[in-house]
Amino acid sequence: MVNGYMATSLREALEIRAAHDVVPYGGGTDLMIAADTSLTYLYVNRIPEMKQIAVDDAYVRIGASCTFTEVLASPLVPPLMKAAVEQIGAPAIRNGGTMGGNIGNGSAKADSVLIEFVLGAKLRLASVRGERIVPIEAFYKGRKQLDLAKDELIVEILLPKDADYEWYYEKVGARRALAISRISFAGLLRCDGDVITDFATAFGAVAGTVLRFPDVEAMVIGKTKAEVKAMHDAIVAAYGDHIVPTAGRVSKEYRKDVCLNLIEDFLTSKGL
Ligand SMILES: Cc1cc2nc3c(=O)[nH]c(=O)nc-3n(C[C@H](O)[C@H](O)[C@H](O)COP(=O)(O)OP(=O)(O)OC[C@H]3O[C@@H](n4cnc5c(N)ncnc54)[C@H](O)[C@@H]3O)c2cc1C
Repeated sequence: MVNGYMATSLREALEIRAAHDVVPYGGGTDLMIAADTSLTYLYVNRIPEMKQIAVDDAYVRIGASCTFTEVLASPLVPPLMKAAVEQIGAPAIRNGGTMGGNIGNGSAKADSVLIEFVLGAKLRLASVRGERIVPIEAFYKGRKQLDLAKDELIVEILLPKDADYEWYYEKVGARRALAISRISFAGLLRCDGDVITDFATAFGAVAGTVLRFPDVEAMVIGKTKAEVKAMHDAIVAAYGDHIVPTAGRVSKEYRKDVCLNLIEDFLTSKGL
């Protein structure tokens, strides 16, 4: 028997979160692996304010309690996010698992979180004390260490609305389906004519959090494609200097080799 509160509005959920020692519960696909009957859960998957997907002037706003299936069904969600989400788990996991739960689990293997990193997404957090907007990179302070107060909830994920970029996404798993990422990679390229105006890369499942390397990205931004193509080997080498994997189910050496193969493939596929 699992104890819990079922909130039906954000206000109610935040008041329960402030007054009681509760664990937010989205789809339970992570939590129920180690169900703890001594805990009290706060069910956040029936809260209308957290179930919407909408667009404003700057962002595509995805409610934290939207399931992966709902994200895939929305015409508002950018194709890069859908490319990652459609590879998550099996249909039952995509039907139950939520975007907020993927973040709240705090894993560097979380597939939607990789895309939030490469896009520079922000999170809208709320408590009875008020709201704050936090960049995804700042939210992850380390493995399973989140910038989330005991009375706060993740309410929305804010993806930049401008999807006028080329992208690359690859998930390397132990098998083709129902695989947790062994390494995941996403790359983004935006050009104005021949000049590269934005270049971003993110590596998942390599270390305690998803990794970005702004110093290496800065080598590319502002240059022409021809200039970057001439620097191809130097760019791959710079990634090699920066990527320091941790050992896990696979070795550090394997992780690093795969990361460098993925960056090589990303650059080559974009003519760089
Ligand atoms: C068989 C299987 C396959 C899987 N495959 C994949 C995969 O391919 N890729 C992948 O990325 N993941 C995978 N997962 C992991 C899991 O499905 C995802 O992480 C999912 O997004 C979790 O969402 P949830 O709503 O079920 O989270 P829950 O289990 O409900 O919660 C997870 C954590 O987030 C917290 N939380 C939930 N909602 C909020 C909120 N609104 N605010 C603050 N904290 C919150 C919870 O307290 C908990 O700590 C798999 C899991 C299983 C069991």
